[in-house]
Amino acid sequence: MEKIKMTTPLVEMDGDEMTRVLWKMIKDELLLPFIDLKTEYYDLGLEYRNQTNDQVTFDSAEATKKYGVAVKCATITPNAARMPEYNLKEMWKSPNGTIRAILDGTVFRAPIIVKGVEPYVKTWKKPITIARHAYGDVYKGTEMKIPGAGKAELVYTAEDGTETREVIHDFKGAGIIQGMHNLSDSIESFARSCFNYALDTKQDLWFATKDTISKKYDHTFKDIFQEIFDAEYKEKFESAGIEYFYTLIDDAVARVMRSEGGYIWACKNYDGDVMSDMVATAFGSLSMMTSVLVSPQGYYEYEAAHGTVQRHYYRYLKGEKTSTNPIATIFAWSGALRKRGEMDGLNDLIAFADKLEAASIRTIEEGKMTGDLALISTLEHKVTLNSEEFIKAIRETLEEML
Ligand code: NAP
Ligand code: MG
Repeated sequence: MEKIKMTTPLVEMDGDEMTRVLWKMIKDELLLPFIDLKTEYYDLGLEYRNQTNDQVTFDSAEATKKYGVAVKCATITPNAARMPEYNLKEMWKSPNGTIRAILDGTVFRAPIIVKGVEPYVKTWKKPITIARHAYGDVYKGTEMKIPGAGKAELVYTAEDGTETREVIHDFKGAGIIQGMHNLSDSIESFARSCFNYALDTKQDLWFATKDTISKKYDHTFKDIFQEIFDAEYKEKFESAGIEYFYTLIDDAVARVMRSEGGYIWACKNYDGDVMSDMVATAFGSLSMMTSVLVSPQGYYEYEAAHGTVQRHYYRYLKGEKTSTNPIATIFAWSGALRKRGEMDGLNDLIAFADKLEAASIRTIEEGKMTGDLALISTLEHKVTLNSEEFIKAIRETLEEML
């Protein structure tokens, strides 16, 4: 069989620990035998980030702007324990944070659904994709403990020196206050990323805030979304046959629980933080969550939602064969290859991405899976495979399908 050709390279961001091990297995077994794989390789493994003073992370993000599509392996965000382990010069920042800041993107997370791993919510049949705004609000808040009676105010001093004041509270005793902010630019980028991704995946977009209570702050989010939608996306949504739907956050939560799934739920920063953990857990497993960063300019970076699976890696280093689930990382590759195919008009590449995903799902539904899934799968006949055996089983299914 002739290998599938690519015209533009993918930006390949290698990573750390167990996922780095899976990365190579996936390439060797599921990609290189079938595709004339073109990538521009960036090693975001902690060792090389340290060696380059993290320059490699910046370079990989710039390359994503150049080529448009990246695929990323999970990476270590260093903490105190990693300093001696990797002999680090500095406690380097989270690569995901750095890349997100450069691409100004929004992260979309969606579960991969397979028979046998049933969502806890009975009505959910299709994935619910959460889009979390990743700037500001309580995450960039300023707080104060109020020791006793006194007046707390919000003060804005314009560049010309004029002040605008708003009383927060006239304290009679002790209490607490918090100041937070957001930026119109950031909310606009968030809105555009969400509208673009909805069009891309042909799914409805839901957005919700508490605008009835927060008449200026949350209401601004609602207004910006509506203005951008009306001006730039209304007609595109109509011709794609999808809908933009705004409601109050309480109503949204109730509707989500009763829904079938199959839409994107855009969330403010805090809502997204909390709801993405709830939705991921309710769908069954973190190892079956994909994640894609979409910039308002239309750059894409695909990855798994989980980390480097450190505990498995230490067992691997002792020579043990681990049963680490590669599915989310495989779907990062298939997502990136499909997007590359769409951008370059390569139908073979798109078809391959579809088949790789279908083969992965079929393998699990035939009862071959990793330990994490075997624990929760309701299938009667199932076998637990280690990562290598599982990836080889997917390859067999894939070869039958090609
Ligand atoms: P983790 O890698 O997500 O793993 C936490 C636990 O979840 C694992 O110990 C394992 O449970 C289970 N798990 C996660 N993914 C799995 C998979 N594919 N297959 C089977 N089980 C899976 O989180 P962590 O161990 O807390 O973090 C490790 C490193 O990842 C940290 O250095 C952190 O900075 C980094 N991280 C990176 C990213 C990213 O690059 N996007 C995201 C999150 C964390 P059992 O051990 O019980 O089997
Ligand atoms: Mg959280």
